[in-house]
This record gives sequence, structure tokens and C-alpha cells, in this order.
Amino acid sequence: MTQQQRAAIVIVGGGAVGCGVAHSLAAAGYDDILLIEKESTLATATTSQAAGLVGQVRNSLDRTRLAMWSVETFSELEAGDGARPGWRQVGSLRLALCDERVEEFRRMQAVADEAGLETRFLDNHEAASLWPAMRFEEVRGVLWCPSDGYLQPSDLAMSYVARARQAGVRFLTGTTARGILVENDQVVGVETSGGRISTPMIINAAGAHAWHLADSVGLELPIVPVRHEFFVTVAAEGLRPDLPVIRIPDATLYLRAETDALLCGGWEPASLSLDPRGYPVDGQTPPVREDWDVLAAFAEQLSPQFPQVSQLGVRSVFRGWPTFTPDGRFIIGESSRVKGFVMAGGCNAHGVSGSAGIGRHVVESLGDNPSEYVSSLSPDRFTDNAWDWDEMTALARNVYEHYYAIDH
Ligand SMILES: Cc1cc2nc3c(=O)[nH]c(=O)nc-3n(C[C@H](O)[C@H](O)[C@H](O)COP(=O)(O)OP(=O)(O)OC[C@H]3O[C@@H](n4cnc5c(N)ncnc54)[C@H](O)[C@@H]3O)c2cc1C
Repeated sequence: MTQQQRAAIVIVGGGAVGCGVAHSLAAAGYDDILLIEKESTLATATTSQAAGLVGQVRNSLDRTRLAMWSVETFSELEAGDGARPGWRQVGSLRLALCDERVEEFRRMQAVADEAGLETRFLDNHEAASLWPAMRFEEVRGVLWCPSDGYLQPSDLAMSYVARARQAGVRFLTGTTARGILVENDQVVGVETSGGRISTPMIINAAGAHAWHLADSVGLELPIVPVRHEFFVTVAAEGLRPDLPVIRIPDATLYLRAETDALLCGGWEPASLSLDPRGYPVDGQTPPVREDWDVLAAFAEQLSPQFPQVSQLGVRSVFRGWPTFTPDGRFIIGESSRVKGFVMAGGCNAHGVSGSAGIGRHVVESLGDNPSEYVSSLSPDRFTDNAWDWDEMTALARNVYEHYYAIDH
């Protein structure tokens, strides 16, 4: 890299979010965009570990619409020429194990109806015909969303990259942002391991390092990495890649077929988080070791519906530090304190499925008339008042631990 690099927009972070934002900005007509990534290849951090589940049924209309936008984008990318995200629109089954949960599903269905998203309650026979290896005897209700599915997270990032490159976006790997340069409350550049880049706009998509970049411009944002993991078994009878995704919120579990094996993950009642102040901007997050007790608990919780799981060996474990926020909402948009400093993070484990919608929201936030919802995602909500790290961390962990709680 030359010492005099310049760009109109520099995106820091080449995971699903950064690449999705690059794609959205380019599609919206922005040019002279440069994305920098500290690793030698793109999408190797949290994105490479994700399960790739894409669910649109949500408790709020805005979140449902964001997810629907993502699905529309994934379908376009899959149908297009060139790199594809591996999008499989296999549908999803949401299983209720108690009546209270069925009631929650009805409320979610009302939100889906309002958003124009097709969902339907299935009886247990219909559900069993879609997932024959699963036991539905104890299931009290099944909500089916035919347009849900899953994709391959790294392939999605590369699919964004291919389109963004065609539109002129530049990608620079092996380049670490060490700090953002600000003059008179306006971003003027970024100091990197390869020299200085002049720019009036930085988009912070640095995942578990997003806190550090915000801190470098004097903004304290509660972006809390929380451990998450899932396992993939060896091949099992009755599993095929076209089976619908399943969520069993009462057992805090999600699962899908991974070719002819089972992928199963869940939300732990006692989470583990990092304090981003404990590792440097140019260093790695601490490694995540498999927690076999937690993974064994997932398998145990699944066995009433899928007894086979106890017989299956585990082939691999995926894990990482997705970031959570105290209010469980994305942090998107420009800071009003530091002009040109734009956030795209705090994904609350939706960064892959949400990436296209996040990209769209970033574009909207930079326009003249962002919606009330997009404005409400601004980093300003955390910088206008003082707050306490312990309290915010506890809230962010609570979001994780209650991910599948009723009406969460
Ligand atoms: C086990 C697991 C399962 C998951 N399952 C799902 C799922 O099914 N669906 C879903 O939507 N989400 C899922 N997630 C969450 C999802 O992985 C994240 O929300 C998403 O990957 C976040 O993307 P990102 O681009 O923000 O972060 P990352 O993928 O971590 O990308 C951030 C990038 O920024 C780079 N970077 C950091 N600091 C700097 C710097 N200073 N300079 C330059 N580059 C820098 C990093 O190297 C990294 O490549 C899962 C996560 C885990 C761990």
C-alpha cells in the first residue's frame, strides 16, 4: 500500500457485515469505497463460524422486514451469475413444547402477517412429513415459514465481495486499522499497519474489535462479545440438506442438516463474555475452546425430539465471539459527535442473516430521511449518557441467555 491512499469511504472489517455493507453501498451508487481487513483472507473471523440460519419470523415488524430484505437479497445473489451464497430456501419449523409458546407463535404470526411474510401452523403429521427423523408427539404447535432457510456464511461474504468488486469496491487484506484520525470532530483518515489512509468516512464493521475503533475516536460503545458454539455430528440416517431448519425455543435449541449430518446449537443459561478492553485493536480475541458440558447439554435437550443424537459422534465444533448489545439491537449509523464515523455492528448473533438488511440500513442512515427505526439504531443512544460497563455487560449477556425466551 502506498502512504498516500485515499478513499471516499473506508470500511473496516471484512466479515459478513463489512462485505454486505460494501455490496449495499455500491448497489446504492456510492463509489470510491475501500474495505480493509486485518487477516490475510476475508470472512475468517466470526462469520466463518456461523451456522448460517436465516429466520424471518420475529417479534417486531422492523426486524421482520429487515430479515425479509436479507432473504430477498440472498435469493437474488443465488439466482445471479458468479459467486453464490449457497442459499437453500428449505423453510423453517418452529416447535412449541408448551401452550404459552404456542400463544407467542400466534403473536409472531400476526407480526408476519402485517409484514406480508407467509407463515402457517402445521399439524404434527404435516410437520413429520417434512422432517421424518424428528419426533413430534410432545410438540404442542408448529409454525412453518416456507421462505426461511440457511446459507454458507463465508460463501455469502464472497458473493457480496464479487458483486462489490464488479462495482469498483477495493479490498485490502492483511491491513489492520490501528486508530481512526479525527480533526475538529470530523473523521479525516485511518492509521493502518500499511500506513495512513485519508478518508472523510469510516464504517466500523470490525465485529469483536468494533469497541476499539469507536474508542479510538473517543466514543465508548457497549459492544460485548459473548461466546457461542454449536456442534456438527457425523453422518446420520434420515438427514438431507433439503430438510427445513428447526428451532425449539423451549429447549433453547436450533438445528439443521449439514449435508447428511446434524448441526445443533443453542443458547446457554449461563453465558461467557469478554471485556473488549482486555485485548488490543491489532490482536486476536482470546481463543474459544469447545465447552463439552454445554454441547452435551444441547444434545440432551434435543433427545426427546431426536433420540438418535445420543448415538452420534461429534465431527466438529464451531465457535466464536459474536457481539451483543445491552438492548439487543444493532448499532447502525453515523455518530452525531464524530462526523464520518459510522457504525455497522452489535449484531446480537444476527450478523450473517441480517447482513443484507444491515447494509440497507447503513445506506438509509446516510441518506436524508432515515426512518424512525433506523435512526433509533444510532450509536448516539449509548454516547449521550454515561453508563457502567458491568451493568451493560450483564444486560448484553441477558440478551444472549434469553434469546429464545417468550416474547424476547
Ligand atoms: C457459533 C456461531 C453460530 C452463529 N450462527 C449464526 C447464524 O446462524 N445466523 C446469523 O445470522 N449469525 C450467526 N452467528 C453470528 C454471526 O457469526 C455474526 O453476527 C457475524 O458473523 C458478524 O459479522 P461481522 O462481519 O460483524 O464480524 P466478523 O465476521 O467477526 O468480521 C469482523 C472482521 O473485522 C476484522 N477486523 C477486526 N479488527 C480490525 C482492524 N482493527 N482492522 C482491520 N480489520 C479488523 C476481523 O478480522 C474480522 O474479519 C453465529 C456466530 C457463532 C459464533
